[in-house]
Amino acid sequence: MSELTRLFPYLDSQYMSYPEPTRAGNFVLTGTRQVGHTEVREITVKTAVTPRGRGVRVTGYDINTYRGCAHGCVYCFARYTHGYMADSDFFGHVYAKVNVPEALERQLARGWKSGVAINLGSVTDPYQPIEASYRLTRRILEVLLRYRVPVSITTKSVMFLKDMDLLEELARVCGVQVRISLISPSKPLARQLEPYAPTPQKRFEALARCREAGCSTAVLMMPVLPYLTDSIEEIKKLYQEASHAGVQAVVAAPLRLRGSVREVFMNFLHRNHPRLVHRYSALYASGDDVDDSYASWLSLVVGIMSEYYRIPRELPPLGRPVVQRELFALLDAGPDGSCPV
Ligand code: SF4
Repeated sequence: MSELTRLFPYLDSQYMSYPEPTRAGNFVLTGTRQVGHTEVREITVKTAVTPRGRGVRVTGYDINTYRGCAHGCVYCFARYTHGYMADSDFFGHVYAKVNVPEALERQLARGWKSGVAINLGSVTDPYQPIEASYRLTRRILEVLLRYRVPVSITTKSVMFLKDMDLLEELARVCGVQVRISLISPSKPLARQLEPYAPTPQKRFEALARCREAGCSTAVLMMPVLPYLTDSIEEIKKLYQEASHAGVQAVVAAPLRLRGSVREVFMNFLHRNHPRLVHRYSALYASGDDVDDSYASWLSLVVGIMSEYYRIPRELPPLGRPVVQRELFALLDAGPDGSCPV
């Protein structure tokens, strides 16, 4: 058994082979290093910030410090992104954008609309284990603080606690959201589903610390896994813990079995919860999305919990809204030069 098969037993060998990339699209491979069980592929990039959406439909701006993720979640929806790197080992090969702080500084120095936020980690985790060695996300925060750019962070880790000095200052001058992915309050279940992420308890404690520091906080209960993490008791406990931690939103959505997620997740079920295989096949018989009646049931449960614990289902938008460039130009051309948005 190879080391990776031992670490991620729900992956078949078909997901372990890959051609060697040296240059693809917008990056150049400059070296490799072994950090723990991760082969880090160091790359340089031309740009740090990428728009979400296209042209006039841009809805936000993202930075992904790393590509690939060593947290190894069995339901990981981001694995398809390694296809762009001609690499199918999403958990074992992590690409570190070693010049991303400098690329960000260049982009911001060319001009950035005041108050428009940047999302860190919309695809892969900016605080995954190799951040302890590379500290790239910390250096990104330093640049964002210099330019006073609001930031929304999505992570499954608590490593951002090491950067609380920067987050506290960013929260004071322009705004910070910390959105922690947390799908179950149960430690044994979380260990099985997200084998290399911190325990749920540590994540709740980190959320409480963020509130003390003035950050907005949310729990991402995404994905909800039918028959595994969706009992009323589990969901209630998650809301209780979120309430104790002062969390301001719980965002929930059911599992999607898109692309290779279906094969990997069903493989996991076969090995660990074989009695659920048929039930999932029925729930996802018509495609990537769960059966409508299940989705309606979940929405009802989450709605009731949200009302009962007084925790909204989404955070208010951070910073200035992103609107199309032409509209910005028109609005900015007001007589006193101030933006009315
Ligand atoms: S933390 Fe997110 S990106 Fe990383 S393995 Fe888990 S689901 Fe995938």
